[in-house]
Amino acid sequence: MRVLQLASRASANYFESLPSRTCLREPGFENLSQNSQNSQNRQFRQHSQLSKNRQFSQRIKNTTKLGNSRAAAYFCNMATTKLYDSYGRPLEYMRLAVTDRCNLRCHYCMPAEGIDFVPRKELLTYEEMLRLTRIMVELGVTKVRITGGEPFVRKNMYGFLKRLTRIEDLEQVSITTNGAVANRHIPFLKEIGISAINLSLDTLDRERFKTITRRDFFDEAMSTYQAVLAAGMTLKVNMVVMARHNWQDVIPMAELTAKDPVSIRFIEEMPFNGSGGNSTTIKTYRDIHDHLQAHFGNLETLPTPAGSTARLYRIPGYRGTIGIIAAWSRTFCGDCNRIRVTATGKLKNCLYDHGVLNLKRMLSDGSSDTMIKAAISRAYRQKLPDGFATEQQRSSAISESMSSIGG
Ligand code: SAM
Ligand code: SF4
Repeated sequence: MRVLQLASRASANYFESLPSRTCLREPGFENLSQNSQNSQNRQFRQHSQLSKNRQFSQRIKNTTKLGNSRAAAYFCNMATTKLYDSYGRPLEYMRLAVTDRCNLRCHYCMPAEGIDFVPRKELLTYEEMLRLTRIMVELGVTKVRITGGEPFVRKNMYGFLKRLTRIEDLEQVSITTNGAVANRHIPFLKEIGISAINLSLDTLDRERFKTITRRDFFDEAMSTYQAVLAAGMTLKVNMVVMARHNWQDVIPMAELTAKDPVSIRFIEEMPFNGSGGNSTTIKTYRDIHDHLQAHFGNLETLPTPAGSTARLYRIPGYRGTIGIIAAWSRTFCGDCNRIRVTATGKLKNCLYDHGVLNLKRMLSDGSSDTMIKAAISRAYRQKLPDGFATEQQRSSAISESMSSIGG
């Protein structure tokens, strides 16, 4: 409460005069003496509840609008449970790529011959990923999505997931998979507390599946679809919409929502296919929306959860929902609450950056958790306002595969 009163009275000049070292997460705070850290920890804990307060968050946004990012960072840092970037967006969600390898070769993700997979020793180890997740949770992350490459091609994945879901204060662990080898393990995933599965499925036609993925795993993917529903888990289906390959599948995929409690998410294709450019003419979120609207009549618009990349709809009378993700048009960046960690441990504030911090190095060179937290905080505060600004800052054209980024 006191902080809020203070905030409402304070002027931009006042913020400028704050000593920067009062922030627990300021760079270099690891050098503070233990006593001083403990006393600051106590003070910060007293204020931690405030981070949950919308007014507080609004104050941060307003402060940032004043162009005073240091002041915003000060208030963010007083709340120990959440980390905010300089635009007032909280860090809540981490996408963790556990491998860059995959058993499919989807057109929109990588070339037929695959990509230069990194040597295994360059991948984060399971121990490093577990430690990193604990650190992220302490910085405010409540939700982790495991992705890749294909997560289930990495050995001992199930043991890792079991340990991951036991991390205290981690509220949700979900997985994005192509479903090629996961089908028999769905009950186990449910049992250990995986809350949701995102299944990538771009068509309901066996031959087109083979063409798009360059592999013959249609039956396995469909059996994963059925297994997730049978287990009563939350199921989202990701379909990358491409003019040349699967435009004719948009309506049949939407029809799945008639009977199944599933969310079908139509995604604009991005140029992360290992060689840059898009594989076909882009079908934008507007094209997709208009196509659905023309076929089904009025789509019911549903509320969009904070931080969601999808605009949600329901076909009246249908059980499931439809999401449209403007991944290429990037209409949702203002609300972004996520970071990505690649399989080699690069921290990415945005899909479109080159990586802003080498976490693998810090996790293996003896850096303390405190030092890693400080480095992540510093990097996160530099998150740019949107994917366009980030793309502009790139030093080279896009040529990565989504498989190495962790989509
Ligand atoms: N292999 C798993 C799978 O396919 O579900 C997880 C990794 S994959 C990179 C994660 C998601 O990224 C998938 O849903 C996939 O459809 C999506 N994706 C890959 N390349 C994409 C691209 N160029 N544009 C849009 N989405 C893409
Ligand atoms: Fe593999 Fe997923 Fe990329 Fe397809 S989208 S090639 S399944 S990583």
